Amino acid sequence: MLIANWNKTTGWGAPSIVPYAPLALDPASSVLHYATECFEGMKAYRNKRTGKVCIFRPELNARRMNKSCDRVSLPTFDETEFVKLVQKFTAVEKRYLAWQGEVEMTETDDSDFLYLRPMMIGTSARLGVTPPNDAMFLIIASRLQSYNSKPLRLLAPSPEEAVRAWPGGFGNAKVGGNYGPTMKIQTEAAKMGYDQILWLFDAKRRLVTEAGAANFFVVWTTPKGTTEIVTCPLTEGIVLEGVTRQSVLDLARERLAGPSFNVVEREFSIDEIVKAADEGRLIEAFACGTAYFIAPVELLGYEGRQIEIPLKMGTSGFYAQTIRRWLEEIMYGETEHQWAVTV
Ligand SMILES: *Cc1c(COP(=O)(O)O)cnc(C)c1O
Repeated sequence: MLIANWNKTTGWGAPSIVPYAPLALDPASSVLHYATECFEGMKAYRNKRTGKVCIFRPELNARRMNKSCDRVSLPTFDETEFVKLVQKFTAVEKRYLAWQGEVEMTETDDSDFLYLRPMMIGTSARLGVTPPNDAMFLIIASRLQSYNSKPLRLLAPSPEEAVRAWPGGFGNAKVGGNYGPTMKIQTEAAKMGYDQILWLFDAKRRLVTEAGAANFFVVWTTPKGTTEIVTCPLTEGIVLEGVTRQSVLDLARERLAGPSFNVVEREFSIDEIVKAADEGRLIEAFACGTAYFIAPVELLGYEGRQIEIPLKMGTSGFYAQTIRRWLEEIMYGETEHQWAVTV
């Protein structure tokens, strides 16, 4: 694991990479009482053809982590230094990724990746509710296979019952405090056979925000006849600014947008999804994030109804499959792309 310590007067100390081990923390540490914590999720993977290990758009994770730190009064940092630390750490840990250069890659090797978890915690031992004077930055990693299971079934609880985020809150920061409180309803949904919660916001407007800890997209035909891919905007601060979300939007704008295809960030309600489904205008829906990648959705549970979502390609919709393939080409493909940063 990589560790760097920070102190309010002395600033950042030299980072070091040390064997993975438990931390010794004072029981009065800020993080344990006031959740002064934030984290990032990134993937490192080997390019199928070149064998080079890459990380995906790390500068976006650096920027987001700085915003998260700022939100919970943890120290900010130089974003290029963050990227350098992730690269250094990955260069050490890449021995865990398949293919050392001498072995032929098999078809399945490209699904093998390292999940990187940069994180920061407030370590000051002080029971007052004040910004920590000491903090610790860490990077840990785990080896994972690509998420590649069945399409998702989502349960949308009423926003009177459960919301994940609200304007002026902190749902747009990747801070630990956002996740603990979601596990209870997630467990209840799992008992009912659902994979994730579809988070709605506002009892009146019933806006669709995110799916579990992933961003959410719908593709439909509007009543006027145009095809539209739509996701909740960042403006109210009620969704997290996903790197995958941004990449989906960038690719859709670059390669799909045209006179009869719109790429839209706007507020939309679950009632619009239900109506589109009832009128046969719903094309598909998917969740996206670093861990989930592009995960097609097959079912929405809402107010006792089960709304089936088309899966045109069998286990995925056409757009989810196409965008997923484009992203894979950028990550694993022959051509160089600025989003794939070599370690
Ligand atoms: C991490 C996360 C995402 C996905 O972000 P990526 O950068 O695409 O991995 C979306 N929503 C929430 C709430 C998250 O925590």
